Amino acid sequence: MSKIHNFSAGPSILSQGAFEKSMQDIRNFANTGLSILEVSHRGKEFEKVLADTDSLIRELLGVPDGYDVLFLQGGASTQFFQVPMNFLRTKAAYTDTGTWASRALKEAQGYGEVDVLASSKSANYNFIPKDYTISSGLDYFHCTSNNTIFGTQMKSFPHCPIPLICDMSSDIFSKPIDVSQFSIIYAGAQKNIGPAGVTVVVLKKDMYALKANRHIPTMMDYAIHAANGSMYNTPPVFSILVSKYNLEWVKEMGGLQSMAIRNTAKAELLYNAIDKSPYFNGTTAVEDRSQMNACFVFSDENSGLEAKFDNACKEAKLQGLKGHRSVGGYRASMYNALPIESVQVLVNTIETFN
Ligand SMILES: *Cc1c(COP(=O)(O)O)cnc(C)c1O
Repeated sequence: MSKIHNFSAGPSILSQGAFEKSMQDIRNFANTGLSILEVSHRGKEFEKVLADTDSLIRELLGVPDGYDVLFLQGGASTQFFQVPMNFLRTKAAYTDTGTWASRALKEAQGYGEVDVLASSKSANYNFIPKDYTISSGLDYFHCTSNNTIFGTQMKSFPHCPIPLICDMSSDIFSKPIDVSQFSIIYAGAQKNIGPAGVTVVVLKKDMYALKANRHIPTMMDYAIHAANGSMYNTPPVFSILVSKYNLEWVKEMGGLQSMAIRNTAKAELLYNAIDKSPYFNGTTAVEDRSQMNACFVFSDENSGLEAKFDNACKEAKLQGLKGHRSVGGYRASMYNALPIESVQVLVNTIETFN
């Protein structure tokens, strides 16, 4: 069977080695004679997995001293309310750049005032607004670095005099970032880290002093998870294990600098083909195009050709290209583990489509 080219938006493609090593650990975890799925998370073998994953994250992202790395559950969607529950005392600022950003700010409204500094909603989120300033005195500013559904990405972050909090679910580990700019970074694993089930949170320790004065359930309290090394309760052991193996691959490949080079090459290859094609149009502002998720549609005069293109994709073993229902058309997600060869097959299919 020839290889399937997996453009799934999430859960999404992981490095092949991550699967092979995890399968080995399902059979016999770290020579315990038992499966990773049936041993205590408090045993020294899993403690090592957790510690290794923590150090890989710190090393790859370049996390400075003074930050906790937490392994939580509930997905990025839980962070949408856990962040304001912990840190929204009076008023926070948000940008509304897509479905996930909009869900995050709606959850925050349950805990305090929300200042929506900018929104691209009326343009169906096809660009990243940049014309706003963040004033001091607010509790924090929240943004979404990559809008997975609409295919836009922040190429830089605004000057922020208050704690900067970012949902990086779909572009974390895709390029180097300056973690010291951020007070909190969070990401559900299933886009560019590992399998669904674990949420990675990188949190600057000085945030604990800014905790809101309200009852916070223990499981929602970042400080409790930090004090317990993400072992206050059972962590998602298998998701963490596979994430570790996937991040080891990122490191072997040369780390985030190398991921950035690969991801830029893949995105340029595809966007060039879309721009040259007489059939397709990109859906977003060119300067805000995401390197992770490329959205494209048939131009008006070519509508009606979907079934034909879908068939060509199927023949070429291109999978996961269906656009989100709020954009339509196609979305090619090109996370770290997607090889450029897969993008080349998609480009060939676009170029030979007639
Ligand atoms: C997928 C996604 C989410 C939702 O993540 P869950 O882990 O399913 O809750 C949130 N934000 C962004 C940017 C995403 O891509």
